Amino acid sequence: MNSVLTSLPRYHGKRRAAQALSVLLAILVPATGLFRIDPGAGALVILDRQVWFADFFLIAGLWITLLSALVMLYSMAGTVFCGWVCPQNIMAEWANHMTHKLLGKRAEVSLEGDAPVVAPAKDKALNWILLALAFLGAALFFGLIPLFYFYPPATVWAFVAWRADPKLAGSLHWIYAVFVLIIFIDIAVIRHFWCRFACVYRVWQHSFRTRQTLHVRYDATRSAECEKCNYCVTSCFIDIDPRKTDVYDSCINCGECIDACNRLHAKKQEPGLLRFEFGERKEQREARISFRNNAISLTSRSSWMAVIATLGLSLFAWGLWSWEPLHMSAYRAENQASRANLDYRIELVNKRYRPDSVVLSIRGLTDADYRLTETRVELPPAGRVSVILALSDQLPHGLHAFSIEASSPDGWHSRFPIQHFSEQRQRQ
Ligand code: SF4
Ligand code: SF4
Repeated sequence: MNSVLTSLPRYHGKRRAAQALSVLLAILVPATGLFRIDPGAGALVILDRQVWFADFFLIAGLWITLLSALVMLYSMAGTVFCGWVCPQNIMAEWANHMTHKLLGKRAEVSLEGDAPVVAPAKDKALNWILLALAFLGAALFFGLIPLFYFYPPATVWAFVAWRADPKLAGSLHWIYAVFVLIIFIDIAVIRHFWCRFACVYRVWQHSFRTRQTLHVRYDATRSAECEKCNYCVTSCFIDIDPRKTDVYDSCINCGECIDACNRLHAKKQEPGLLRFEFGERKEQREARISFRNNAISLTSRSSWMAVIATLGLSLFAWGLWSWEPLHMSAYRAENQASRANLDYRIELVNKRYRPDSVVLSIRGLTDADYRLTETRVELPPAGRVSVILALSDQLPHGLHAFSIEASSPDGWHSRFPIQHFSEQRQRQ
């Protein structure tokens, strides 16, 4: 085969691989504890660690890195997220594929008024039932993915198997049923209508596009070859003409039209008329000259975002390094019972999803001055335990400065200073 043709990129297979990987990652990212929400603790979980508002650097670093990386992506590659990663597009494309397979190539679902044209040979009850079951199965599957962001995998499995689990919210089956219904309607009817007319995220991505952003380029000098051909237009599932793409159109840089035109011209051993390009739409020779300049200009425009991303990464690394796996606080155990004002409640929190232990001691008081309900505290994964520090009612009148010391086997240490005023003489 001609070397020009063998060097031509093919996007379809790569895009399918990227889409499969993105669905897998959408499950693995929360399931492995890389990033999820713990509703019970009211905390974000990053790298299997509870992150509190106090862990400011970790949260700020993560969001600055993510946002700057995304802004760089939007300005370099436009709405490429939609075409290669977005779950809405994945579901819509899959639904189109299933519909064509079971009802014929012209069975397009459109909310713009055109009824689907079902192939007479495929217009059977069995095909309609199979299609409905496929959509229901997909809705049941995709509806489960958000659960991984709120529950550990074992709890999600308990939910699927209808097993009781104290971590599961009581109304979760109803919430899930509503999710499944919405996804089913989306797959069956809405599909790319959402992408074209309702997706706010696409508008947000658009706001970063410029004339230099990656787009489909049409070789107008060979336009005579397009006579009586409409192949690229029919291959575009967003329903736009790839020969007339513009900065703010609906193109999601999927590359299907480029593959289609290349396939068409492969018979003639020549490349197609479409390809991806950075830079303004110009005549081919002029565009070739300016490609390098445009790419350089795009890179330099993005460099300030790279600086911000580096700052975000540094904050994130610092946040990880300074993150504390355990937390201790203490406060007066106000109680109207007899030991009021002499007891302190020590709260120990394990921010990791594995068991831990803490040894408590008191510095600044003699053994006779206090009693701890526990000195070696076993903490469950992501759990909290309260220990009571009971001060002796024989403490002399006056101010007593002491501290609660806590340490874990892996080197964590915390100190909580307390100034206690004893009113012992007044009670006598
Ligand atoms: S597929 Fe290629 S040749 Fe056919 S209309 Fe599109 S750009 Fe022209
Ligand atoms: S114009 Fe081409 S790259 Fe853009 S959405 Fe349509 S098929 Fe995909």
